[in-house]
Amino acid sequence: MATLQLKNIIKEFGDTHVIKGVDLDVQDKEFVVFVGPSGCGKSTLLRMIAGLENATDGDILIDGKRMNEIGPAERGLAMVFQSYALYPHMTVEDNMGFSLRLAGVSKSERKEKVLAAARILQLEELLDRKPKALSGGQRQRVAIGRAIVRNPSIFLFDEPLSNLDAALRVQMRIELARLHEELDATMIYVTHDQIEAMTMADKIVVLQKGVVEQVGSPMELYHHPRNRFVAGFIGSPT
Ligand code: ADP
Ligand code: MG
Repeated sequence: MATLQLKNIIKEFGDTHVIKGVDLDVQDKEFVVFVGPSGCGKSTLLRMIAGLENATDGDILIDGKRMNEIGPAERGLAMVFQSYALYPHMTVEDNMGFSLRLAGVSKSERKEKVLAAARILQLEELLDRKPKALSGGQRQRVAIGRAIVRNPSIFLFDEPLSNLDAALRVQMRIELARLHEELDATMIYVTHDQIEAMTMADKIVVLQKGVVEQVGSPMELYHHPRNRFVAGFIGSPT
């Protein structure tokens, strides 16, 4: 079980106010999409949830527990980035098991967890390959596999499909939706692509310049956009 709450989160880099008081409630097993134009603060917000960046002010709670001073490894979440940065000299199996190796998990247990993730992601036949012998979609699946083996209660995705071509993006969206069903995990997904947001989200959070413009289901946002920005961004008829 994993809920997430953000309470008046503020982030400043020097004089630059990047996140200006964000409040948010994420329910257990919800698929939440942060959407907004480039530079609005999506990645910064995600990095603060992950613990890779400290908030200037405000609280981050996971299952009601304050996370502000807790390191990334102890938060029970895993992040999948846009640039999947697989280790080129390692096989798919070793890439997927690497974080477990760092955590001191035994070889046999690593193998078991990697195999289970590979099965979910249909990578079983590719475990001995190096990243350069994989397609873009396969590489992205390996990156997701690295997150799955850690059995996180919350997955954080930062524009994971933006390097893929249009056809593959459609396929990966379907696979991610299936993964969400199968893993029963809470997922927070960042994108600047409103189609991804509309098709994947239980709940959409529309951001502009570090401020939440509106939170709601795709249908709520489409039919009842609060302002012109949301309407324009979501593509509602106005
Ligand atoms: P998004 O992911 O929505 O494109 P980001 O969260 O990456 O936006 O960035 C939001 C704003 O914060 C941008 O204006 C960016 O230049 C600024 N920013 C991000 N990281 C830093 C940093 N380490 N130092 C200064 N400014 C930053
Ligand atoms: Mg970003």
